[in-house]
Amino acid sequence: MPLPIYTHSACLAHDTGPGHAERSERLASVIAALREAQPDAEWREAPRASRGQLLRVHDDALLHAVLETAPHTRMWLDPDTVLSPQSAEAALRAAGAVVAAVDHALSGDARLPRAFCAVRPPGHHATGEVAMGFCLFNSIAVGAAHALERYGLRRVAIVDFDVHHGNGTQAIFEREPRVLFASSHQMPLYPDTGHPSERGVGNIFNAALPPEANGRLFREIWSSRLLPQIDAFKPQLVMISAGFDAHARDPLAQLRLQAEDFGWITAELVAIALRHAAGRIVSTLEGGYDLQGLSASCVAHVAALSD
Ligand SMILES: [Zn+2]
Repeated sequence: MPLPIYTHSACLAHDTGPGHAERSERLASVIAALREAQPDAEWREAPRASRGQLLRVHDDALLHAVLETAPHTRMWLDPDTVLSPQSAEAALRAAGAVVAAVDHALSGDARLPRAFCAVRPPGHHATGEVAMGFCLFNSIAVGAAHALERYGLRRVAIVDFDVHHGNGTQAIFEREPRVLFASSHQMPLYPDTGHPSERGVGNIFNAALPPEANGRLFREIWSSRLLPQIDAFKPQLVMISAGFDAHARDPLAQLRLQAEDFGWITAELVAIALRHAAGRIVSTLEGGYDLQGLSASCVAHVAALSD
C-alpha cells in the first residue's frame, strides 16, 4: 500500500543563508532518496495550517513574528533561527502537512493510516511563545492539538528521537494528560532540557544519552524505559518527531547511531500503533544535518513506516 508523503516547494525556499546547518539541501536530499527508495509512495502537496490550528498551541505574538514580519532579506529571531522572505509560507506548509497527515490517519477510510511529512523548518524546539533552534512553528504540536480538538482523541503519543530534546513540544504539553511525550536525546547538548526528572503531569518521559552512545545503548534505553510507557498509555495515535541527527555522521552531535537503528525504533512504534491505534502513525522530519546520514536514516524510517 502506498505511503502518503506530504511536502511543499515552499519548504525548499525557506532560506537560512550560507553556512547554516538547517539548509534546503537537507530536504532536497531526503526527497530524492525517498523518490528512489519508495517509488510507490503517494506524494501530496501540504496545505497551509490555518490561523485557528496554529493558535491551539501558539500565541498571537509568535504568529505575528513569523507571519507578518515579512523580511525583504533575512533576519535572525535568535542566533540560530532565521526568517527569510519564504519562511512564513514554509512554516505554514510544514505545520499544515502534519495537520493533513493527522486528517489522513484519522479519516477512517485510509487503507494505510500512516503518513510522513517531508518538510522544513523543523518544529520541536518552538514553544507556545518563542521560535528557537531553527524552528518557527511546532508542527507536531499543531498536529497533536488538531487530533485532540478535531477528533476528540483522549490519548496521543508524541515520540521524539531527534538528538536534541524537544523542549518546545514538552513545554506545550507538560500539563496536558491527553498527550504522552517520550524523548531520547544526547545530554549535555542544546537546548539543555530533558532531564529524566522532568515529568510534567506524569505524561513526560525523558531519557538522556551520553556523547558517543551507540545504537545498542539507544535500543536498550527505548526497550527498557520508553517503549513500555508508550505501550501502557495505549495511544490512539502515534506521532513521531523524526530527527536523524543522532546518526554517527551528524556534525551537530556526538551519538553513534546508524540508519538501521532508526528503522528499528520505527518498527517498534509501528507495532505499538498496530496494538492500540489501528496502525495510525504520523511522522514529521525534524533535524539531521549530514546529508548522507540524514537521507539513509530517513529511507530506513519510511521503509519501516511502509511495512
Ligand atoms: Zn536535532
